Amino acid sequence: MIKGSCHCGNVTFSVQHKPDWLTECNCSICRRIGAHWAHFTAQDVEISAAPDATIAYVQGDKLLAMHTCKQCGCTPYWVGLQPDEKSRMAVNFRMCDPDDIDDIRLRHFDGADTWQFLD
Ligand SMILES: [Zn+2]
Repeated sequence: MIKGSCHCGNVTFSVQHKPDWLTECNCSICRRIGAHWAHFTAQDVEISAAPDATIAYVQGDKLLAMHTCKQCGCTPYWVGLQPDEKSRMAVNFRMCDPDDIDDIRLRHFDGADTWQFLD
């Protein structure tokens, strides 16, 4: 199991298995957050947070909601909003202990332009 939490600890997550890779995306929101995303389905992720612990930021084509901790400003996860993609989500492995994740491959995704991995 891998666990992560925002800086203040109000939002925590756990997943049962390591992802095959982490995604660093250069789109307008991801490059600002600096996230390393691990993609899962909602059934594979346990989020622990009070219902009002996060701000859900929805923008652009409204495909997903970025959840940011109101207390400390970290962004631990996003969830899919499209009707057929409600179980789609990703957690930000920047919230994890570096020692737990340092062997996971990091892939760069060109979300700003071509929508392809750059490797
Ligand atoms: Zn926090």
